[in-house]
Amino acid sequence: MKLTYQDVVFEEGPCPLCGAQRPSPPILTGYDSTWRKEGTFTLVRCQECELVYQSPRPTRETMRYYYEDCYSGEKEEEMRTFMLESGFSRMMSVYRVATIEKVTPMKPGMRVLDIGASYGAFIEHARVKRGIEAYAIDLDPGSIEKFVNTEDIDVRCGDVLEGMYETDYFDVITLLETLEHVYDPVVVLEEVRRILKPGGLVSLEVPNWDAVTRMVFGSWWLPLLLPTHLQHFSRRHLAMCAERAGLEPVHQQAMFYPGEVTMSFGVGYGRIFGNPPDEERGVLRRAVDLVVGLFLMIIFVLIDLPVVFTLRLFGRSGHQTLIARKPTN
Ligand SMILES: [Zn+2]
Repeated sequence: MKLTYQDVVFEEGPCPLCGAQRPSPPILTGYDSTWRKEGTFTLVRCQECELVYQSPRPTRETMRYYYEDCYSGEKEEEMRTFMLESGFSRMMSVYRVATIEKVTPMKPGMRVLDIGASYGAFIEHARVKRGIEAYAIDLDPGSIEKFVNTEDIDVRCGDVLEGMYETDYFDVITLLETLEHVYDPVVVLEEVRRILKPGGLVSLEVPNWDAVTRMVFGSWWLPLLLPTHLQHFSRRHLAMCAERAGLEPVHQQAMFYPGEVTMSFGVGYGRIFGNPPDEERGVLRRAVDLVVGLFLMIIFVLIDLPVVFTLRLFGRSGHQTLIARKPTN
């Protein structure tokens, strides 16, 4: 049964990283700018470890309201095409493999698990290009139903914390834009450590709270993705999270992930001029949307690409990757 906003229950939990119960007063108030669902959300800073996290937050059981009809359901076909067939998606898969290969080559027969695999674009790319033995898991049955390839990939729908994988089993595990969504990031990484082979690697990709674009755009910053992004890692906090789970950081970088400037402007446009459903937009609004769309394309080429490229060199672009190793003893 579908949930409504009235069903959503909010909770004030401890810091997801250190467990302390010492939140600062709210440091940012925002909205669901992407899917335009109801609610006002606040971020606080842990006064113990300084991680920024959402509090109060929707409970695990009622957060489903904010995921429904997003990655699956009505918007599914649009999202699926973007995530599987766009040049952008292919470029990101190439880039993600290349990032892992800064630490170790991905070889045929390696066991690779993608946690939060969505429709499977990355794991299928790695399987085809590197001949790895591919595994994937996602919580969302809608995504798994439309998964790109269930014949050659071991695909499961569920929570990795259910413990369905063997101990010391995988060579590489990826969590791409996933760790910021989970309720217990340290517990998830402890499970990752259990199922990795000794010396195996995990690649963690999340938004970067250190980003200059985050400071410029504030609550318009696209990677805020309230309320489904529960914690916001700086580079230091992402490394702390891995270390708390007993993993050793071996490589960390900011990412060249273009689009955040353009899309943050898009979020701001929606906030200022409203964001009604397509069928409620009149002729004038459609014309303005078209002009703004063209303007955003110009921003993408002239501003987004060079700015994100430059910020990445200084560790200050909007996304980051950390690769960590399971100790061998
Ligand atoms: Zn903390």
